[in-house]
Amino acid sequence: MKYVSTRGGMAPQPFSDILLEGLAPDGGLAVPEAVPQVCAEQLESWRALPYHALAAEVLSLFVTDIPRTTLDALTRAAYSAEVFKSEDIVPLRPLYDGMSLLGLSEGPTLAFKDMAMQFLGQVFAHVLHERGATLNILGATSGDTGSAAEYAMRGKAGVTVFMLSPNGRMSAFQRAQMYCLQDANIHNIAVNGVFDEAQDIVKALSNDLAFKARYNLGAVNSINWARIAAQVVYYFHGWLRATSGPGQQVSFAVPSGNFGNILAGHIARSMGLPIRRLVLATNENNVLEEFFRTGVYRPRAAAQTYATSSPSMDISRASNFERFVFDLVGRDASRVTALWHDLGKVGYFDLSALKPEFESRYGFVAGTSSHHDRLVTIRTVMDRAGVLIDPHTADGVKVAATFVEPGIPMLVLETALPAKFSDVIQEALGRPAPVPPGFEDLETLPQKFTVLPCDVASIRAYITEHASG
Ligand SMILES: *Cc1c(COP(=O)(O)O)cnc(C)c1O
Repeated sequence: MKYVSTRGGMAPQPFSDILLEGLAPDGGLAVPEAVPQVCAEQLESWRALPYHALAAEVLSLFVTDIPRTTLDALTRAAYSAEVFKSEDIVPLRPLYDGMSLLGLSEGPTLAFKDMAMQFLGQVFAHVLHERGATLNILGATSGDTGSAAEYAMRGKAGVTVFMLSPNGRMSAFQRAQMYCLQDANIHNIAVNGVFDEAQDIVKALSNDLAFKARYNLGAVNSINWARIAAQVVYYFHGWLRATSGPGQQVSFAVPSGNFGNILAGHIARSMGLPIRRLVLATNENNVLEEFFRTGVYRPRAAAQTYATSSPSMDISRASNFERFVFDLVGRDASRVTALWHDLGKVGYFDLSALKPEFESRYGFVAGTSSHHDRLVTIRTVMDRAGVLIDPHTADGVKVAATFVEPGIPMLVLETALPAKFSDVIQEALGRPAPVPPGFEDLETLPQKFTVLPCDVASIRAYITEHASG
């Protein structure tokens, strides 16, 4: 299995080589040369597997340059009952009207980013050890991604993490979750600025090729292909748990921002998994819903991106969307290059000619949810199923409900636990979300972080002093 770029300008490379890179050299994203296929018999033979063994089966189709026994050990370490609190790893819980919740938030940071990051931590450590190399991961976070990365990389030999966060602009819970880590290889840097400014510093340093090469700078952002591959696994797991025999169809509903989670669903479907519909749910930042409704993709400026009560979906430029468009235009890299050229020049592109295929060929449908919808949905799910869901998952349930079909299970991906967004729960139900076991004292633990000015020079100096290798 080799990987090529969506823009056609990269020589085919094996998994381990694209693992440590961000964008392809031509500005595109790495995708498999051909999507591996899984037949019905093979799928049935996976029914009884525990999650880590299923993960090894699915990932072995994408990772052909790491020995199978090694991959088994990596997935066993990534998806253990100790890390995910139960043998299930990803529990399936019934709601009502044919809907169920696929629980992707049982990991250490209580959000679905852990599903991919835990594997990434294992595979990074393995590949770096094999190559005798070190890596300095530089990122910026407004919450979920940074903490998932830190919990996955803590204590890993050869990896040092520099995570920028906006000083004083995260919830007390999120801040405590990141800053309480005392591991020597984790550097929390609170910059005196907003998230976008922190992100700009990361971009500036990553674009400084001499600095990037000298300090082996790497990224764990959502365009990393290994994250997508690891996410494909839970679509297979969900299908196997919701069906009893070959060919039965299941739909999935996905609260979406960067298009990373639902892209993994699209890949699973392309591999032959019997997925009927992929239901894309957005919040008020509905650029993706607009695309599936009109065929026009028109990302918005930061100033037109609303701060909502499902903040991890407050994204208006979906970085993984290019991988789906690559498939949509028949894997024609020159067409993708032209579309992104247009995007840079006029701010949108129009694929409305292909609109009839969005659902008939790819199974995609989409809908939008609002703050009011979230509150109502949190209350309804509590009343009807006795289950407390977080605001992002509520966006998923709200949109999923409009696409349920008789006889076809609708699995809504639970992307975070309510404890992370307790203020919204308070608003919906008049009481806060319960604190999960083990998190009672989180906000009183000692915190380790460094406050720095929000400028490139300060961050460069800090990395120079603390980098590994
Ligand atoms: C990251 C995130 C999302 C959005 O996922 P994408 O892969 O960016 O589409 C949704 N909900 C939560 C809680 C998240 O952390």
